[in-house]
Amino acid sequence: MQEVLVLGAGYASLAFIKSLSKEVLQAYSFTLVSQSYQHSVQVLLHDVVAGLPGCHALSLTEILPQGVRFIQDEVLEIKEGVVLGQQQEHPYTHLVVGLGFASESFGVAGVKEHAHTLSHYKQCQDLHQQLQKALQASPKPLEIVVCGAGFSGIELVGALADAFKDKVRITCVEAMSGILPMFVPKLAQKAHKYLQSLGVRLQVGAKILECLENGVLVEINGQKEQIGADFVFWTCGVRGSPVIENSPFFKSARSRVEVNGFLEPVGLEKRGVFVLGDCALLKDAQNRPYPPTAQLASQMGAYLGAHFKSVLVNKPPKNSFIYKPKGTICSLGTHYAIGQIGGLCVTGKPALWLKKTIEWWHRRALKL
Ligand SMILES: Cc1cc2nc3c(=O)[nH]c(=O)nc-3n(C[C@H](O)[C@H](O)[C@H](O)COP(=O)(O)OP(=O)(O)OC[C@H]3O[C@@H](n4cnc5c(N)ncnc54)[C@H](O)[C@@H]3O)c2cc1C
Repeated sequence: MQEVLVLGAGYASLAFIKSLSKEVLQAYSFTLVSQSYQHSVQVLLHDVVAGLPGCHALSLTEILPQGVRFIQDEVLEIKEGVVLGQQQEHPYTHLVVGLGFASESFGVAGVKEHAHTLSHYKQCQDLHQQLQKALQASPKPLEIVVCGAGFSGIELVGALADAFKDKVRITCVEAMSGILPMFVPKLAQKAHKYLQSLGVRLQVGAKILECLENGVLVEINGQKEQIGADFVFWTCGVRGSPVIENSPFFKSARSRVEVNGFLEPVGLEKRGVFVLGDCALLKDAQNRPYPPTAQLASQMGAYLGAHFKSVLVNKPPKNSFIYKPKGTICSLGTHYAIGQIGGLCVTGKPALWLKKTIEWWHRRALKL
């Protein structure tokens, strides 16, 4: 009997499972192993930290189709034919890896010890509780430093500024000369102005040298400077799951496995193994890696699910995977967003509405 093992219950793995035909689900054995019984809506983790309302996690019982067995376990290592979990071993004939991301420190000292990262729903709920406690205990506004002005850093800054208003003073520190480099300058500047209007200090051109117990040490124009903080958040980048690094079965760099157009690990002799989402490194036609996003993870999962019937009978799929980016929307709290859809720029309420609609579609697609 073919034993298909799916690791992780994120965007990639669930898009894979939801794209399998009834026929395939009935003919083969599918088991999903994940550390939590919930699907965490990772793209909203900043809202969980800030305590903003919304649907941030869904129970897998609402999502998984009949016939997919769920085992709650923490994956430790992937080997040929078997996955080692904290609780038990999981044998497989076919394997789909969708274990997501971990924070990347880029070797900056003190990140692990003194900075908070956003990794999953429960951990972000705990962070929110810590923030609430600190706010209650503090007679003056809390000083918060967010390291990194990329997508997740700016969404976190916007959510915190919106949720806590004058109870916090937020500084966002960024080494580059501007924020949100993935957007056209006109949109990034709008976001910059909006955040300033909320009282956020955007310290660009500041290289972070170290995270300290009470702030960060930065270098601005060749001068070292300390920025004090009660809370430091680190959102400077991600790498793949540490499980990849712990698995010599794969060749990897920064815990990501390079995959070919069929989403199989490059250089792996064993057939029937696929790596998706943030654990995978897929290059575009110019040989540049695609940035890891939920959009890419979902499209990878949907592609593999649609072609899995031929995979199971050892036929290569007719077409290789082609990523079709549909646009990007960055929220800055609950009142403002910026977005770029193809050549079209959207800001304010229309961008917010689009973001909410995308989230609604994601939830609906999972529950169908
Ligand atoms: C704050 C923030 C905002 C973002 N906003 C956007 C956005 O607007 N748009 C966008 O496209 N992308 C966004 N992203 C990126 C996006 O969240 C990721 O690219 C996406 O979640 C990757 O999907 P995935 O399926 O690879 O992994 P994930 O969705 O992270 O899922 C990984 C799964 O594996 C499980 N798992 C992990 N380790 C183990 C283990 N050892 N054992 C068992 N189970 C395990 C997890 O519990 C989870 O179920 C954002 C990220 C952050 C942090």
